[in-house]
Amino acid sequence: MTEVLNADGHGLARAARLLRDGALVAFGTETVYGLGGDAGNAAAVAAIFQAKGRPRFNPLIAHYPAAGEALRHVEADDRAVRVARRFWPGPLTLVLRRRADCPVALLAGAGLDTLAVRVPGHPVALELLRLAATPIAAPSANRSGAVSPTTARHVLDGLSGRIAAVLDSGPCAVGVESTVLDLTGERPVLLRPGGVAIEDIEALIGPVRRGMPLGDPGEGVRSPGLLASHYAPALPVRLDAVSVADDEALLSFGLPLPGARCQFQLSAAGNVAEAASRLFDGLRWLDAEGARVGARRIAAMPVPETGLGLAIADRLQRAAAPRG
Ligand code: AMP
Ligand code: MG
Repeated sequence: MTEVLNADGHGLARAARLLRDGALVAFGTETVYGLGGDAGNAAAVAAIFQAKGRPRFNPLIAHYPAAGEALRHVEADDRAVRVARRFWPGPLTLVLRRRADCPVALLAGAGLDTLAVRVPGHPVALELLRLAATPIAAPSANRSGAVSPTTARHVLDGLSGRIAAVLDSGPCAVGVESTVLDLTGERPVLLRPGGVAIEDIEALIGPVRRGMPLGDPGEGVRSPGLLASHYAPALPVRLDAVSVADDEALLSFGLPLPGARCQFQLSAAGNVAEAASRLFDGLRWLDAEGARVGARRIAAMPVPETGLGLAIADRLQRAAAPRG
């Protein structure tokens, strides 16, 4: 049963508690309703993908109650500080490099070295973020392939029974999604047009390159630019391993194979959601540790293609694809 919470002191406290406990809570922002989970808790982030029924992992936006907190987790240059000052709280998302000590789960950023951060411009959302006291990952609160919800009713239509609660703060005012601006390169790039006009950003920081229309990779247009930047391990990956060679590092799932030089267990219990929550940590660890012990390849054991297993398989297939 999904609880419907009012946007009063009691409802907010309950919603914040659920989030801190790793449960999923949908909440209204000025753009659309977001499906929130603790971005620092990989299991909660995996549960977001599961509830949405996404066939692949795409990077989520981490939400914060204040610019100072958001920019502390990323490498913020002068441009980032200026646009943050001008447009936050508001419908603008900034993509910046993660800081080494960034506590946001790698899964939230789909394993990327970058992180999308935003301070939403809705008083109820801001209060919830303050009370939760942890960054909240929140894609739009709809099943994959459905349109973004702008009322609590829309959220329930798609996700009732799949999430712990929805905090009802009434209809969203903007109804279009946030503008996504990539500030990782010398030239800012518009990844998605949205609630903040590009001309207003340009007036502040100069010319912005129009990037590929992004959309959700799982929900329509694919962005080759974005997908190309997805994390790929440096070591080549061999799929569906049922044995392991002595020059291989092993990404194991369930009962491990004997003889691996080094191995990372995704889920000893054979749980795909747990495996999803550990996938990007595993790939990164095997890359580093594998190189250290002289492994020349990562052998990945098969993961059943049910639920999040599909998204894991998608990610591993792309990691195993020939590199150009
Ligand atoms: P939504 O969560 O539905 O509002 O969509 C979030 C948008 O931000 C999607 O288009 C994502 O692909 C994009 N996004 C999130 N994180 C990143 C990132 N690290 N790099 C590039 N784009 C991102
Ligand atoms: Mg969406």
